Amino acid sequence: MVFKSTLPPLSYPRVDIATFVFQCIHRSSIWRNPLQPVYIDSHTGEAVTISEFQTNAKELASGWQNTVGLRRGDVVAMISPNDIHYASIMLSIVLAGGIVTPANPAYTADEILHQLKDSGAKYVVADGEALPAVQAACRKANIPDTALFTMPRKSPRTPVPSIFTIRSQLPFQRLSLNSKEVATQTVYLCYSSGTTGLSKGVELTHSNIISNVCQSSAFKEHEGVSHQGKRQMGVLPFYHVYGLNLLIHANFYEGSIVVLARKFDFVHFLATIQKYSIHYAYLVPPIILALARHPAVSQSDLSSLKWVLSSAAPVSPALIEEIFLKHGLVVSQGYGMTELSPATLVTPINNPYRASTGILVSSMEGKIVDEAGHELPPNEIGELWVRGPNVMKGYLNNPQATAAILDADGFLHTGDLGHVNERGFVFISDRLKELIKYKGFQVAPAELEALIISHPKVLDVAVVGTYDFNHATEVPKAFVVLRGQEIPATEAFKKVLAQEITQFVHDNVAAHKRLRGGVEFMTEVPKNATGKILRRVLKAKEAEK
Ligand code: AMP
Repeated sequence: MVFKSTLPPLSYPRVDIATFVFQCIHRSSIWRNPLQPVYIDSHTGEAVTISEFQTNAKELASGWQNTVGLRRGDVVAMISPNDIHYASIMLSIVLAGGIVTPANPAYTADEILHQLKDSGAKYVVADGEALPAVQAACRKANIPDTALFTMPRKSPRTPVPSIFTIRSQLPFQRLSLNSKEVATQTVYLCYSSGTTGLSKGVELTHSNIISNVCQSSAFKEHEGVSHQGKRQMGVLPFYHVYGLNLLIHANFYEGSIVVLARKFDFVHFLATIQKYSIHYAYLVPPIILALARHPAVSQSDLSSLKWVLSSAAPVSPALIEEIFLKHGLVVSQGYGMTELSPATLVTPINNPYRASTGILVSSMEGKIVDEAGHELPPNEIGELWVRGPNVMKGYLNNPQATAAILDADGFLHTGDLGHVNERGFVFISDRLKELIKYKGFQVAPAELEALIISHPKVLDVAVVGTYDFNHATEVPKAFVVLRGQEIPATEAFKKVLAQEITQFVHDNVAAHKRLRGGVEFMTEVPKNATGKILRRVLKAKEAEK
């Protein structure tokens, strides 16, 4: 059975993203005041006004073309934590005809190198603190020093010029696309491992992002959640599609101000809500857990906070209820995927089914299928497939991976398991795909396995996610077969070897990929006849514990 969104169908402007953002600015009454702050740094109080934002975007766009020499379709990597200038820099690249690939500034040099090489990045804008890793990666990717810029924020002493030094007032050729091109031309290359393997460049078009901004905003309008002139918390990283969509695009559309955090700290988060009378926030499950249980919450005034959306990973309905009972705060749940730009399912404010992950956003269709791809009736568990204007164009230079996730009918195979009821409420209950999500961040088991197997003492390995209830998140755990295929004889020896492997991973990956779930030794990794790791066997073993 194909089920359709029960929300009114969507209409969205068929323009490029830069035009869209500028149109939103002209349309919304809050942006008529040129001194209206649009991004505020919660740590320093520094702000960018809407007029500075527009000037920066245009002068930087001119600089990209006239000073730097950016050509149409060139890829620029942005490697920075949240910053008040992030959005204007990103938009300037789009305005000048470039494509942006955002990356996590906590990545190691090798992780950055993978993204730079895979995306074909020609230029890089990086935060000062990320520079050592970024410079090492640029050298290996043959990106010259002249193509590297720092974020405008005062950086540790470095000869790398700030991106603001390229600003120019010369005329430039502004990106101009017709209605067909906006649906086919890639604007952002966000990295995701999808259902299997290493991280891949997800090609999101102008229409993908704009339709999804309008889809999520239409949902909120339908639910009577108005954000016009309101302040929202910007803790989601801008480099993940969840933050990119909601905090760099939807905020202009909805007329809301983003109070951002460079790094997340829960006590600072509570203080920011109070200081700036934050009205709403997009969060992830571990922050929902802290809102329900952290002792500092009882000393904080959260009365300004009216609505929270938890997304990026499953959240427990019990926590949602606990927060409502303690603080009267409504927490909706959202489900999305990088490949879906990302918002796909959202729970209504008056959610009649506590365990539901939500209903489809406007103009989306879905089906639940069995292993053979046959449609299942309501209430039977299978894989969720979805179709709509927010479905990605494909994976960059990877037709095979694209064909494995996106079928000829336009349905994206999410790799998530669940069921739908007769009223169109979806219940995501498990994950078929390999992906592990640590606090909303992706961890690709294949990447950790490739690293761990390079350790001289390791013969074979499988990495799966286990659930850490104390932190409301999955954590990666490695099942390791040592060379010699023997399990260490004593607990002390096991501990030493496990520590050695954990440290090896720790030294080679970004913090969110560390083996927080530990290391377990086995004599053989369970595999099927074709050599594919039977992850479900390992996950079931964990669940039994
Ligand atoms: P990403 O591409 O990083 O946004 O990760 C997408 C994946 O996160 C989905 O395919 C799900 O496996 C998981 N996910 C996101 N939101 C939820 C949710 N509300 N419930 C369960 N899983 C979720």
